[in-house]
Amino acid sequence: MKTCFFLSMLTPSLRLSILHTPTRMRVQQTCTLHKRRLLSSAVTPKLKVAVVGSGPAGFYTAYRILERIGESSVTVDMFEKLPVPFGLARFGVAPDHPEVKNCQEKFEEVAQSPSFQFFGNTAVGASTTNTSSLIPAPNQISLSLLRTNYDAIVLSYGADADKHLPSSLPGVHLSGIYSARQFVGWYNGHPEFQHLDPDLLRGDTAVVVGHGNVALDVARILLCDIDVLRKTDITEHAIAALSQSKIKHVKIVGRRGPAQASFTNKEVRELMTLDGVGFIQPAADVMKPFAEGGKSLGRVAKRLLQLLQRGSTVKAGDARKTFEFEFLKSPAGFIGDDNNQVSSAMFDIMELQGDPLQKDTKVKATGETVEIPCAASFLSIGYKINPISGVEEMYDDRANHLTNDTGKVVGSEDNLASLYAAGWTKRGPVGVIAETMYDAFETAELIVKDFESGLIGRGSSVRHGWQGVMSDLGSSSNLRIVSWQDWQKIDRSEREMGTKLGKEREKVTNVAEMLKILE
Ligand SMILES: Cc1cc2nc3c(=O)[nH]c(=O)nc-3n(C[C@H](O)[C@H](O)[C@H](O)COP(=O)(O)OP(=O)(O)OC[C@H]3O[C@@H](n4cnc5c(N)ncnc54)[C@H](O)[C@@H]3O)c2cc1C
Repeated sequence: MKTCFFLSMLTPSLRLSILHTPTRMRVQQTCTLHKRRLLSSAVTPKLKVAVVGSGPAGFYTAYRILERIGESSVTVDMFEKLPVPFGLARFGVAPDHPEVKNCQEKFEEVAQSPSFQFFGNTAVGASTTNTSSLIPAPNQISLSLLRTNYDAIVLSYGADADKHLPSSLPGVHLSGIYSARQFVGWYNGHPEFQHLDPDLLRGDTAVVVGHGNVALDVARILLCDIDVLRKTDITEHAIAALSQSKIKHVKIVGRRGPAQASFTNKEVRELMTLDGVGFIQPAADVMKPFAEGGKSLGRVAKRLLQLLQRGSTVKAGDARKTFEFEFLKSPAGFIGDDNNQVSSAMFDIMELQGDPLQKDTKVKATGETVEIPCAASFLSIGYKINPISGVEEMYDDRANHLTNDTGKVVGSEDNLASLYAAGWTKRGPVGVIAETMYDAFETAELIVKDFESGLIGRGSSVRHGWQGVMSDLGSSSNLRIVSWQDWQKIDRSEREMGTKLGKEREKVTNVAEMLKILE
């Protein structure tokens, strides 16, 4: 299935060459095809595209542009602030979901194109809320420098900040409260979050705030059998901390009811079938309107109801660890102990303001509160887009993405490179990789259309891409660029370390160490 899907995305000639040749030859033949195409167009200036961010959105946009315009007529330069590629496909997707990371094989293939270049360790624009002070600063290139040297720029730098609870809530800054984004980055080896060192030793209950799939990822990692995790690409550092963890009960708390939760049934099912983990049923009064929905329940909601009613494979009484969903509770603050460590989470009890079965039904506070004792809390209330410098005015704070018209950034119309957006930067931090792919394809099609209509890449002024950037920076520039070959070296080193530990890879979690591998 995966292979068919992948093949369907290739040009017919590439598809044939891949279907009928062994692997090593495939790469060679693909490269030969690329070279042939390049030679055939030595005289025509190429469309110069810069892509900011090497996550799924950046790679799928690059793939589609190269495929549709043809490698002889376009070059794609991809800029990534970390020395390593793939964004959340590497640093977000849970380690026990290795099949989701298969998209990286496709991205590897895109990077083989001679019309593609990777500039790792190179941030574009300064982030307006800089969170990376803990890792060595990457090279920094201003967006305006790219805009004078490229025809089109794709902003696909994801969402690398947190939504926060209001700072007026009591206790939000207590120790032991972690953002899910940082916790996920920590166990997945993101260099920015290795300092997090979550304290999992203070007690047996964790409260996860949020009812999305990231909240369920966090809960699963806290509950999962450590020997299962050991075989994944989770870092050894995280294994060491999780194997000592005293957390035995995880409460997953959300503002609305079961019909309004945004997690998916697949992730709920995974929790229900975790080895040695039992599910505690939600309060009967909260479930009642949902359970009585009968024919009004849609197919997905009906399935969720069945999952919740059937419960876990292991009964809670026999389980090593347990979890439960708490519905209709909105964060009201935290209480700390004498050491300023969180000891309880407070919630306003909410009630639904309309049809309990509708996805978009709102809630209002009842005036009652509840206290849930906990030793740690993980806030999974959403990611936020950081507008990099140069596009601050094009960022829509309410919508939480760059203002754009099907991928064309609105407000960037001048005689510099056109700005496009793809992925989470374009439509906000929601959606799985498949949705990101379709969204990236939409942006790529727009670029193709603008190229074909002469709006970009066909004007009198020829843009010089990376050569132009280097010439503008002058000889004083001392950039430490990480190329694709460099990344492959880091990749090999991680795989070698992984083999020794009986896993696919052991990630290098420190930028300085990554660069040392390349010396
Ligand atoms: C915890 C978590 C788990 C997930 N699990 C799944 C799953 O199981 N299955 C699934 O299909 N989807 C999953 N997703 C969703 C999936 O990860 C996203 O759909 C996808 O990664 C979005 O792609 P993107 O390219 O827009 O952003 P990202 O993947 O975030 O990529 C953005 C890239 O831009 C880089 N960057 C940032 N700023 C700059 C800058 N100034 N200059 C240069 N580079 C920069 C970043 O380092 C990053 O590499 C998950 C998401 C999260 C958060």
